[in-house]
Amino acid sequence: MKKILYVIFILYVLANNACTQSQYIQNENNEGKKIMKYKKWTTKMNGIEMIQILDKRCNCFIVKNDNFCVLIDTSINYERKILSDHLNDFNVKNIHSILLTHSHFDHTGNIQFLQKQYNSNVFIHSLEVQFLKNGYTYLPKGTIPITKLFTSIIGNRIMCFQKFHACDSDKIFTENMFYDIIPDDLKIEMLQTPGHSIGSVCFIVDNEIAIVGDTMVNNAGNIYPPFADFPENLLESWKKILETNCRLFLPAHGKEIEKYILDNNYSKINKKINRKIA
Ligand SMILES: [Zn+2]
Repeated sequence: MKKILYVIFILYVLANNACTQSQYIQNENNEGKKIMKYKKWTTKMNGIEMIQILDKRCNCFIVKNDNFCVLIDTSINYERKILSDHLNDFNVKNIHSILLTHSHFDHTGNIQFLQKQYNSNVFIHSLEVQFLKNGYTYLPKGTIPITKLFTSIIGNRIMCFQKFHACDSDKIFTENMFYDIIPDDLKIEMLQTPGHSIGSVCFIVDNEIAIVGDTMVNNAGNIYPPFADFPENLLESWKKILETNCRLFLPAHGKEIEKYILDNNYSKINKKINRKIA
């Protein structure tokens, strides 16, 4: 009996995981020559698709169903052509909204261009709306020796790390709670997750997968961001994310992160902090 239950349990786990695992989809360009590979995840509840439309300086994601398409983050301005080409590859004609995880230059580099191009709504947290309006965000503090050195000596003197084409936002997030961003059946919720920056947010798709911006990264298993203005808030934000139903996290830098990895990293850092206090 125990064996049967064990087999049922394993099958259940496999069936659950199968829906949120990524798969590669191939797209041909108009001439049918260049074949691009894109990573795609599909939620099991409502079949919402997340496609990694760009995987260079900053991962950008399309989230879509039959009725709506939204874009999360816009990468750096020198990747505009490649981002546009990829959107064309997918025959994207309408982007209902562009959701920004935060206002740093490598996430907002093409926001003005895309807002005009697609006449999209732009969403950002209220604490970062002014940065977007000014086209300027200061570089966050380093969290490891090399990034600390970088920000203190070079970082804030080089304006290309801070400037981007300014843009007005149509909608802002203010509540420290979940709520639906897009009406209808494209279920995306915002979770306020300060730490990397003051107004960083994550977008939770269908209560299953979170697109997390720079709240975590994936550098060969190390997920603590190399830059964070408020490290003390970052861990609280991780805890908040762990308390959701999400099992998979898509960062702006690096590959997807599974829940157990976040859990392990959270426990490890927490222990370290507690040891220091004691
Ligand atoms: Zn950032």
